[in-house]
Amino acid sequence: MKGDQNLKHLAPLVCIISMFLFLSACSAYPAPPQNGQPSNAPQGQASPVVSSGPRTLAHQELSSIGLASKSTQQKVLTKYAIPSTNDPPEDSIDKNTPSSDTNPSNTTASALTMQAKSSKTQRPLEGRVICLDPGHQSKMSKAKVPIAPNATTMMPDYAIGTRGIKSRVFEYTITLKVAKILEQELTKLGAKVVLTRQKEDELVGSIKRAEIANDAKADIFIRIHCDGLDDSTVHGVSVLYPGDKYIKDKAMLEKSLALSQALLKNTVSATKAKSRGLSKRNDLVGFNYSKVPCTLIEMGFMTNKDEDLKLNSEDYQKKLVQGMVNGILEYYKALTEKK
Ligand SMILES: [Zn+2]
Repeated sequence: MKGDQNLKHLAPLVCIISMFLFLSACSAYPAPPQNGQPSNAPQGQASPVVSSGPRTLAHQELSSIGLASKSTQQKVLTKYAIPSTNDPPEDSIDKNTPSSDTNPSNTTASALTMQAKSSKTQRPLEGRVICLDPGHQSKMSKAKVPIAPNATTMMPDYAIGTRGIKSRVFEYTITLKVAKILEQELTKLGAKVVLTRQKEDELVGSIKRAEIANDAKADIFIRIHCDGLDDSTVHGVSVLYPGDKYIKDKAMLEKSLALSQALLKNTVSATKAKSRGLSKRNDLVGFNYSKVPCTLIEMGFMTNKDEDLKLNSEDYQKKLVQGMVNGILEYYKALTEKK
């Protein structure tokens, strides 16, 4: 009986083990979905529906473009792995597709275009004729001429110009120096440059200077001068342009004004000199005989000590030239855009 008693003790234990086994078997087969809802997947594990979405497509794109390195794949995945409704469409993954620029024949064509553009950029004044007039000269004549063709008012045809209050250098020396630097720079940019005089003692009157510009069929005629006054405190740059008292060519007058504006703006900007503005003039022989757009820049006052010294420095002369070159380029650019 002792054995029966042991069995009696074991009965509840066997029952508990049986129930445990039964419950374990039930949890291994979850209940079928009800009302078409997917079954509840354990937290933290992607359901098959989610993993077949765009993320998988990103993986497919990656394998088709053959990214070799795992870290690169990781990088791209970081970019494309979690698309949302705000993300760009799948087509945009095509960023990795080689562009037409890498096609060898296209490369040759685009290289030629670049070359042509660069040549145009380097010589923007190709085909332009520019006449530079370095004001005054060391020789004098007392000749007087009509202020304009067919006019009765007479004016001196020559003037010696002003002189540096400190440097004692004459205006005609500075104007020739600046004109020659400007000639070099404009030539580099492709322009054909004509100077009205090459030497300090060359006797060239105002009418002759205008005729040189006309005969050269210059696009523009730039007269280069320095200013002078009894008042030594006055300084700055000004630009003179022709008025319509004697000149009746409206297009020429308009171009002259546009050129003058561009020269003043850019010269003041390059030198940081004071702008004294534009001045319309009907009394200049050199303007009135010109048939081409013309302007006259007064680069500064030789009667002002500081400006006199600046005008004599090569550094400042180069700044003036840079400003004038920029002004000329701006004038031509505006002219081209207008057409
Ligand atoms: Zn002058």
